Amino acid sequence: SPILLWLRRDLRLHDAPALADACASGRPVIPVFIRDALTDGLGAAPKWRLGRGLEVFSHLLEAKDSRLILRSGPPQEALQALAEETGATDVYWTRAYDPASVERDTGVKAGLKDAGIGARSFAGALLFEPWEVQTKDGGPYRVYSPFWKAVKGREVAPPCAAPKRIAAPKAWPESERLTDWAMGAEMRRGAAVLARHVEVGEAAARGRFERFLDERLESYKADRDAPAADGTSGMSAFLATGEIGPRTLWHGAMRAWHEGNAGAETYLKELVWREFAWHLAWHTPRILDRNWREEWDAFSWSEDEDRPEVLAWKQGRTGIPLVDAGMRELQVTGTMHNRVRMIVASYLTKHLMTHWRIGQRWFEEHLVDWDPASNAMGWQWVAGSGPDAAPYFRIFNPETQREKFDPKERYLHRWIAEGQGSPPETALAYYEAIPKGWNLSPGDAYPEPVVSLPDGRARALAAYEERRS
Ligand code: FAD
Repeated sequence: SPILLWLRRDLRLHDAPALADACASGRPVIPVFIRDALTDGLGAAPKWRLGRGLEVFSHLLEAKDSRLILRSGPPQEALQALAEETGATDVYWTRAYDPASVERDTGVKAGLKDAGIGARSFAGALLFEPWEVQTKDGGPYRVYSPFWKAVKGREVAPPCAAPKRIAAPKAWPESERLTDWAMGAEMRRGAAVLARHVEVGEAAARGRFERFLDERLESYKADRDAPAADGTSGMSAFLATGEIGPRTLWHGAMRAWHEGNAGAETYLKELVWREFAWHLAWHTPRILDRNWREEWDAFSWSEDEDRPEVLAWKQGRTGIPLVDAGMRELQVTGTMHNRVRMIVASYLTKHLMTHWRIGQRWFEEHLVDWDPASNAMGWQWVAGSGPDAAPYFRIFNPETQREKFDPKERYLHRWIAEGQGSPPETALAYYEAIPKGWNLSPGDAYPEPVVSLPDGRARALAAYEERRS
């Protein structure tokens, strides 16, 4: 009897234990993706990106004489219906760790078992299961450094090979059509611009990672903080859709480390930040939408999203060049350099005294690499409300950050058109990407700061002192 392979965030053939096990059984495998309430609830950019991922993955399966079956509705019902139609007796999937998915999957597992259908979940989305890493007292970690120390010497299972063959069922069940799902319909910005910047699919992910190992890992430690250097691996969106698995990245970097590569340890540490984010989200799910440190609930952050300075932040028109460059990079590419994410987050939560949740939601709508755990951890780290967070009084100064990390202003020139005689295509693409209603053009004057750096800093520190007293 066939096995239903319920795909979610694992759109790959290599390093996919659920797929490998299903294929190793010698039974027919029916890959299925179900558009459920969680899919519908995704932000516009992550949903668009997932749609592109599904399209590319379905071609990968076709090249193996397999197919991707698409269904919508509550997964339990969809899987049971498929089992009845095809005679499948087992469902396999790769585990997810956010609370909504955990609740869904627990219900589905119990429901399938009641219906006499086997259900097996597999690891593969993380290097370490969140419950397998514990402090000496048996509790979860709250601070990154000891977490890194605890995991760095651990064995990580090697990535499994892609199956040579995916046995097809005698007859394929009906599938919905991806185009009918209109996964890009909520994009208020130009998806065509985004599509020029976004690579999709397992082959692209693997190729890019190989090139990164060969060409950039050696200088990663030095280059990863320079936003104009393109010194990072660009794996985050592929990880978010599961087009590449973390074990592949871990073992690739580990090999380089053993060969004495100077950037490898730093890269492994960054991969472990992602693990740490999921460790926190699993053990304290409130990090995803509430202040991890409850004492911050009383802080005087503004939650008014309609303030002009919040709109200026969203549009990349705060008058603070490094902040604006980052917010424009986000519009055009669906990603933003890590250092600049920290700077725009600091400017919003401190200089503009705005609640981190407003920024978190903006990122959730606009990032193609949106990851609920890393996004929440990143925002709370900067805001000061998270575990192991930067203290609130440490306020990033975008000007000194620019001098340090973009001294030749290459990143600014890439993204800000105003004031440049002939701006590069990237800076102009911003005007093509943004929602029409913004009414902006490259001929506009570059704005004065909505809040000057000294004023914003003084205001934030005063609010912080008030909270403490
Ligand atoms: P590389 O430098 O090549 O790193 C390799 C991988 O390590 C990344 O793909 C990522 O999986 C992991 N990693 C690196 N830095 C971090 C970090 N600080 N936290 C967690 N994992 C990390 N990352 C997301 O994937 N999705 C998000 O939604 C997200 N939101 C963020 C929001 C804020 C406010 C901040 C400060 C950071 C956020 N990050 C997020 C983390 C980080 O900015 C991105 O992972 C990184 O920029 C991705 O680029 P890269 O793949 O080239 O990274």
